[in-house]
Amino acid sequence: MQTSTPTIESSRRDPGRDEHFTATDFAALRPRVYDCHPAEVAAVLKKSHLTSNDLAVLLSPAADAYLPQLAARSAELTRRRFGRVMQLYAPLYLSNYCANRCQYCGFSSGNKIARRVLSMEEAEAEAKILSDRGFGHILLVSGEAPARLDVDYLVELAGRLRHRFASLSIEVQPLDEEEYRRLFHAGIVSVAVYQETYDAGVYARVHKAGRKTDMAYRLATPARAAAAGMREVGLGALLGLADWRLEGLALGLHLDWLRHNFWRTGLTVSFPRLRPAAGGFAPLTEVSERDLAHLLFALRIFDEDLGLLLSTREESRFRDGMVGLGPTRYSAGSCTAPGGYGEPESEGEQFAIGDERTVAGVCRSLREKGHDPVLKDWDATFQDFAGTDRAAA
Ligand code: SF4
Repeated sequence: MQTSTPTIESSRRDPGRDEHFTATDFAALRPRVYDCHPAEVAAVLKKSHLTSNDLAVLLSPAADAYLPQLAARSAELTRRRFGRVMQLYAPLYLSNYCANRCQYCGFSSGNKIARRVLSMEEAEAEAKILSDRGFGHILLVSGEAPARLDVDYLVELAGRLRHRFASLSIEVQPLDEEEYRRLFHAGIVSVAVYQETYDAGVYARVHKAGRKTDMAYRLATPARAAAAGMREVGLGALLGLADWRLEGLALGLHLDWLRHNFWRTGLTVSFPRLRPAAGGFAPLTEVSERDLAHLLFALRIFDEDLGLLLSTREESRFRDGMVGLGPTRYSAGSCTAPGGYGEPESEGEQFAIGDERTVAGVCRSLREKGHDPVLKDWDATFQDFAGTDRAAA
């Protein structure tokens, strides 16, 4: 079990950059966030380039009273950088087997749920449903059970799906750099891996068994994916485990390190809030919709190039209210059980969905708010799969 301060090491990085990302002692972040004054918030909102200290100010309780100003600044930066578009994607759950025991997750190895790994043909059938719904981007998701679903499986599936989608992303078990490189050459261009929490004490408390207990290995995963040439890497903290303000600052430090070491890799952040799931885990800390919006606005103002994702974990009312204020990517029409698109009665979901609208319903709401839903905005044709090593260039 990891208890010491974890570090990131990477074999390939931009020359002259830091050797390691060190996750600062979580408790040491507290005074940076909690000892701020309202006047500092007003000053940061006028700045064009923010430091991590500025992010701490934006996340502070002193910034709570400035939420309308944070929303306005976040909306302005988002419109300037991304326009009035919202990219839509859908997760394709391949397997709900998992060798880890995470207390908060329905797929946890200790939970008695119906388990399944899709065959190639079943996965292709699910992908075709999503393609027929218009998706050009899909996220291939699985629990973390390499004995059930390994890199060979993903390489073969990518080969079968590549022609149908503009881009393929994965959210599976953390892999080694060479494995990510193999997947990149197979056509998978982005990796999502959420740290869950940057608080080492909470991390040890909620991750009870399996490889995920190694916090340092997980913390180094985004760097390994970027070093392997992935076009985009997605980070996030599971909201409801530790203080969201401190998680936000730790995330900002991690993002900042990745920006400086892998400047060619696009970065995204997701904001998963704990949802009801098998196992009945109760959040360790409350994170309201207001808190979630605050965190999202602060990260947008900190880094205007970030892709910001709000998934169907959140309810339609909240997601509609956030359109134009910061998020750039929404999932839509999602199902979190393997095989669930073709067989809606499938059991074994990871968590309950908050926004149950169809893809057409989400698109309609976006258009009513003056936004364009985009189901494909990039093509793999632009990607040089042969020999690209952006991190080392
Ligand atoms: S959070 Fe991920 S690793 Fe943990 S039990 Fe769920 S699927 Fe497995």
